[in-house]
Amino acid sequence: MTSATLSIDLGALVRNWQSLDALSACETGAVVKANGYGLGAPVVGRALVRAGVRSFFVATAEEGNTLRGAIGQGPAIYVFSGHMAGDTNAIREAALTPLLNSVDQMLRHVEALPGAPFGIQLDSGMNRLGMEPAEWSAVRDIAIAQGPILIMSHLACADEPDHPMNARQLAEFRAMTDGLDIPRSLAATGGTILGPDYHFDMTRPGIGLYGGLPFADATPVVTLDLPVIQVRDVLQGESVGYGNTWIAPRDSRVATVSGGYADGLIRAMGPKATLYAGDTPCPVVGRVSMDLITADVTTLGHDPAELQLMGRHQSVDTVAEAAGTIGYEILTSLGMRYQRSLLA
Ligand SMILES: *Cc1c(COP(=O)(O)O)cnc(C)c1O
Repeated sequence: MTSATLSIDLGALVRNWQSLDALSACETGAVVKANGYGLGAPVVGRALVRAGVRSFFVATAEEGNTLRGAIGQGPAIYVFSGHMAGDTNAIREAALTPLLNSVDQMLRHVEALPGAPFGIQLDSGMNRLGMEPAEWSAVRDIAIAQGPILIMSHLACADEPDHPMNARQLAEFRAMTDGLDIPRSLAATGGTILGPDYHFDMTRPGIGLYGGLPFADATPVVTLDLPVIQVRDVLQGESVGYGNTWIAPRDSRVATVSGGYADGLIRAMGPKATLYAGDTPCPVVGRVSMDLITADVTTLGHDPAELQLMGRHQSVDTVAEAAGTIGYEILTSLGMRYQRSLLA
């Protein structure tokens, strides 16, 4: 078999949710956008429902529709992009709760689906999504009269606890919402860790559930094992891979594994990445190609059957660092060719 194996530990996912839930006194939701950060929103969603999650968050109505099919009626599914033109059927049929981002979206929602639930997204300084303070103060009374079930905003710098933006956004969010008798949510994973001032009535972690930073105490969820297709001797002075970027500094043994940038193993990680044979690190040599990666296994003393990229020795964030990116991008880039195996 030449497909790499991506193991997804749903038990670890549930434990991460429970650990984040234990940090706050309020409800803890779960963000499962981008197909559950690449791990599969249906399986992730079902595991979290069994663990007691009652509120899910997705980016688009299409994602919400898919999730509803997997988890059934009951839990709320909030949609960050709100109510876009063309979303009405999905919102009604999948019983989604759009987080309305503008007056235009509010008009669209109350006209198309009068009485249907909605929340409101406010912009507290990130300048990405949500109503701005001036817009909000103009429509606030009308909006409140329509009965929003959640008011939320999003922090730009929550993964940097000392960043002054955190307190600034907290003050802005409070100024926009204090005194309203409506549940509020400000914190994703980073904000949940910042502490109780940021929790309000609901936290909505994403990356921490999947084992990524800034939740440093997370249990790893993903293991990725790449089967070795071929092992060869490379003499000192010979090159390996595209562009001859690696020249063997000594006589070497080089393994070629199945998996490459088409599988989300970002090409830029090449020079800094390491694969593991059990506990032994085997540096990646040469360029990452579309379907293949080459690694130096000389010190092993035997030819391995597979090499591990993510697991016991390397987290999604270690791999991200080698590629000059963040764990979020590594997870959401994981490709479709893996043999996916679920651990309970
Ligand atoms: C993605 C997202 C989250 C989850 O963020 P994490 O950093 O993955 O915990 C929460 N809220 C909003 C608005 C988001 O876009």
